[in-house]
Amino acid sequence: MRAIYPGSFDPVTNGHIDIIKRASMLSDELYVAVLTNSDKSQTFSVEERLRFLESVTNEFPNVKIVFFDGLLIDYAKKINADVIIRGLRAVSDYEYELQMAIANKKLCQEIETLFMVSDSKWSFLSSSLVKEIAMFGGDLHGMLPDFIINEVEAKVRRR
Ligand code: ADP
Repeated sequence: MRAIYPGSFDPVTNGHIDIIKRASMLSDELYVAVLTNSDKSQTFSVEERLRFLESVTNEFPNVKIVFFDGLLIDYAKKINADVIIRGLRAVSDYEYELQMAIANKKLCQEIETLFMVSDSKWSFLSSSLVKEIAMFGGDLHGMLPDFIINEVEAKVRRR
């Protein structure tokens, strides 16, 4: 099975890494795909986000880091993906995720969306929360890898 796990990953957090690890065990090949559509509103550039992901996934041999723009379903078809992986943290994720999953199914019958439930350890965690905590000088340890914490703090400081 070839899976694609798409997202902004701005930046990747321990919650994403947990999903990547678990999804890579379920699939033969896992493409972690960085969406570059609306790059202007992102904190980290595509290059930075790809570099972070490359570095946190180099221990997983069947994980490939890629980027795409345009429609996810077109990219998923292009790489012959069987499934789209998304993470669910709380009920609040569900509405949006359901809408996307149904729309993607309408656009392509053959590709299924699989939801993986966030580990309760990470269900509070999001990239935007991390950036907000950094902005006010909070401690990010345990929420994302240390080298990314340094980059987040440096980026926030420059702003
Ligand atoms: P997007 O902008 O596409 O939602 P994100 O990078 O925020 O991109 O998230 C990508 C995917 O990872 C989404 O399916 C999201 O629900 C999931 N995700 C984000 N944070 C966590 C977390 N802490 N635990 C599990 N899944 C997560």
